[in-house]
Amino acid sequence: MAWALTPLTEEQREVQRVAREFAEREIAPFADQWDREQHFEPSIVAKLGELGFLGMLLPEQYDGLGLDMLTYLVALEEIATVDASIAVMMSVHNSLPTQMILRWGTDAQKERFLRPMARGDLLGAFALSEPDAGSDAASLRAQAVRDGECWVLNGTKAWVSSGPAAGVIVAMARTDSPGDRRGARGISAFILTPDLPGFHVGKKEDKMGLRASPTVQLVFDNLRVPAGNLLGGEGSGFIYAMQSLDNGRLGIAAQAIGIAEAALRNASRYAGERRQFGKPIKEYQAIQFKLADIATRVSAGRALLHAAATAKDRGEHVTQFSAMAKLFASETAMAATQEAIQIFGGYGYVKDYPVERLFRDAKVTEIYEGTSEIQRIVIARELYSRGGN
Ligand SMILES: Cc1cc2nc3c(=O)[nH]c(=O)nc-3n(C[C@H](O)[C@H](O)[C@H](O)COP(=O)(O)OP(=O)(O)OC[C@H]3O[C@@H](n4cnc5c(N)ncnc54)[C@H](O)[C@@H]3O)c2cc1C
Repeated sequence: MAWALTPLTEEQREVQRVAREFAEREIAPFADQWDREQHFEPSIVAKLGELGFLGMLLPEQYDGLGLDMLTYLVALEEIATVDASIAVMMSVHNSLPTQMILRWGTDAQKERFLRPMARGDLLGAFALSEPDAGSDAASLRAQAVRDGECWVLNGTKAWVSSGPAAGVIVAMARTDSPGDRRGARGISAFILTPDLPGFHVGKKEDKMGLRASPTVQLVFDNLRVPAGNLLGGEGSGFIYAMQSLDNGRLGIAAQAIGIAEAALRNASRYAGERRQFGKPIKEYQAIQFKLADIATRVSAGRALLHAAATAKDRGEHVTQFSAMAKLFASETAMAATQEAIQIFGGYGYVKDYPVERLFRDAKVTEIYEGTSEIQRIVIARELYSRGGN
C-alpha cells in the first residue's frame, strides 16, 4: 500500500493503531448500512469521546489529549479509510468549533464547553455557509441585533454537517447594521446551543455521498442568544472562520487521503482475485499502471499533508500549505476512486463492493471547506502576498 514518507514517532504509530482498530471494530461492520439508510449513529460519538478522539487537539486541562496536528491527522485518515461520514464529523468537531472556542473563547466559555466537547457529551458543528453565500461566505445575511443582555438572530445557515446532532454550534452572523455595512468586518461568531429559543433544525439534505453524516439547514427565528455567547471580538467572526479553515482543510485533506487509500487497497486486492483471459487482472500492465498511479498520488498527497501539518505544529502560517494539501488530496481521492471503479469493472458500479461508496464520498472533498477553485485562488493569492511578483 502507500506509506508515509516521513517516519512517524512511536506515539503517532500507537494513536494510528488505536484509530485503525477502533474503525475496523466499531465502524466497518456497519458503514454500508449507515450509508444506505442515511443513519447517523450517536453511539459512535460517545465511543470516540471515550477514546479521547473528540479532544485530540485540546489541552489536557480541558480533558483533551493535547496532541499535535500531525498525530490528529494520522488518526483521522484511519477513520476515513473506513467511513468518510464519521471522519467528517470528527474533523469538523476537532478542527473548527473546539479550536475556535479554545483560541478565542473567554475562560467562562472554555469552562462551560470544552470538557463536554472533549468527552463527546457535546458534539460540535460549524455554521458559516448560507443558501446564497457559499464560496463568497462574507456575503452571508444572517443578522444579529443586540437587545439588552441578548443578541437576537434571524436567518438561515446551510449545509451544516452534524447539525441535528450538535450540542454546540459556532455560527457566523452579521452584527453590522443595514445602514452601516462593513463587509467581512461586520460578521461575528456566536456559540449556539440547540435549546435556545428560536433555534430550529431545517431541511435535511439527501446527499450523493457522506450519507451517514447529517447535513441540514439551521433556521434562526428570533433566536435569543445571551450576550456572553458572543465568541471573541464583535466584527471578528469572519476572520476567525477563515483562520480556522486552515486547520479544517488539513482535516479534509486527511479525510480525502483516507478515502484514496481505501480505494487503493480495495482495487489492488480485487485485481489479485479477479481473473479474465485465464489470469488475474493484476498481471495486465494496464491495471498495474492504474494501481501505480493511484499509489504515487496517495503517497504524494500524504507527504504534502504531513509536511503542512508539521509546519502547523512548528507554528508557521499554513494558509497556502493547507489549501495545497486539501486541493491535491481531494483531487487524488476523486482520481483514485474513479480508477478503482474501472479496475472493478461492472462490480465497481454496484453497491455490493465498497468502491462505489468511496467514489460518492470522495466528490464532496472537492467542494466543502472551499471548492478546488477557491483553493487555487487562495494558493495564488498567497504567492503574491508572500513576496511574489
Ligand atoms: C456535504 C456538505 C457538507 C458541508 N458542511 C458544511 C458545514 O459544516 N458548515 C458550513 O458552513 N458549510 C458547509 N458546507 C458548505 C460548503 O462549504 C459550500 O458548499 C462550499 O463552500 C461551496 O459553496 P456553494 O455550494 O454555495 O457553491 P458556490 O459558491 O455557489 O460555487 C458554485 C461553483 O462556482 C465556483 N466559484 C465560485 N466562486 C468562484 C470564483 N470566485 N472563481 C472561480 N470559481 C468560483 C465554485 O468553485 C463552484 O464550482 C458543506 C457542503 C456540503 C456539500
